Amino acid sequence: MPGAAAGAPQPGAALPGAGSLFVVVAPSGAGKTSLVRALLDQRPGVELSVSFTTRAPRPGERDGVDYRFIDRADFERRRAAGEFLEWAEVHGNLYGTSRDWIAARIGEGRDIVLEIDWQGAHQVLRLFPDAVSVFIAPPSMQTLRERLRHRGQDSDEVIERRMAAARDELLQAHSFQYVIINQDFTTALSQLASIVEAAGLRFPKQQARERRLFAQLFLSSEPSAGA
Ligand code: 5GP
Repeated sequence: MPGAAAGAPQPGAALPGAGSLFVVVAPSGAGKTSLVRALLDQRPGVELSVSFTTRAPRPGERDGVDYRFIDRADFERRRAAGEFLEWAEVHGNLYGTSRDWIAARIGEGRDIVLEIDWQGAHQVLRLFPDAVSVFIAPPSMQTLRERLRHRGQDSDEVIERRMAAARDELLQAHSFQYVIINQDFTTALSQLASIVEAAGLRFPKQQARERRLFAQLFLSSEPSAGA
């Protein structure tokens, strides 16, 4: 059973400061990784949490950039030590988010993206109800299967397992705030960027950025000069 790590922030904690936490979930093949990478290129202020995993690296993946690749014993040791904010087993591999990394970035008021599965997303949303949840869906199951095949990274058996997992994952979409249907990459990217933009305009986020202005405009009980 996945679970939130001991010592994690208290459930229901509001995120302090100007930063937003984005939880982005999608079945594999929906294009989540490419969309998130493109978002980070567009918005250098947004940072991606690099997860720990026991999965073997795929061709081209780099340790410390795509994931931190560790073995199961190391993962279990870290999990027992409470190092993960959330963790889950997906397709037989373990994945987890570093609690210290997230705590440090939240403390700095940074915008953070977590690219995790739905089980992890539920754990994070329980901890941080003001996190912004985004589900990225494929335009059809057929397209999803074709994308998984064209990736050329997985065997037929693995693709069928991922398709079955995708059906389960799609059943979770209703619990997310936003749904992006990734038919056209450019449109989907601009929709994702709009969500990030809008999240930063929420009252407490703007207030954290513009304290003095807010005190003058909205919070002062002093009658303004000439009023
Ligand atoms: P993949 O092996 O295809 O990179 O990822 C498989 C699934 O694990 C994806 O849904 C991905 O988002 C998810 N995942 C990646 N990192 C984490 C993590 O730290 N926690 C959780 N819960 N899921 C993760």
